[in-house]
Amino acid sequence: MSEEGLREFVKGVLRGEIFTDYQIARRAEHHCPKCEGPTQWLGPTDCPKCEKLVDWIFTGPSWECPECETKVGPRCGECKAELVEVQVPTIDIGLVFLPLAFGALADWPKAEIEKIGCVWAFNRTALPRGINGYPMLTESRLMHKDDWTRAHKAIVREQQREIEI
Ligand SMILES: [Zn+2]
Ligand SMILES: [Zn+2]
Repeated sequence: MSEEGLREFVKGVLRGEIFTDYQIARRAEHHCPKCEGPTQWLGPTDCPKCEKLVDWIFTGPSWECPECETKVGPRCGECKAELVEVQVPTIDIGLVFLPLAFGALADWPKAEIEKIGCVWAFNRTALPRGINGYPMLTESRLMHKDDWTRAHKAIVREQQREIEI
């Protein structure tokens, strides 16, 4: 995206003309980085440090090896990989960006989907009714994650400046 395009996007967000999926409240979830397996597993596995087969003890947000006290995060129920925490929207974003619900990205390979930094739309494309306080938008535009990183930084910076004024 050009500098000019990025600037216009940031201005649009700040003026409330553009809605981005980052405006949807998120909650933390644990996902497996390797497979789509069940995301909690409590059974015994090899400790990465002492290599003993251990039954982990749950100590708050992580698991602890009773032998050597090594801490690991929750494990995948399928492949046993350590889960990573991801922020997921609290409602299905297809309900906000309607083209997504109608399969706009259905045929996209995972590698392409991972390049998406942000889904956005002009608020003027919203239907008269919303859902859970969010607009129902009849378009969905995509921004590359590199562009989104830059745009997000600028948005946060500008919002911060407004608060300080
Ligand atoms: Zn897994
Ligand atoms: Zn151990």
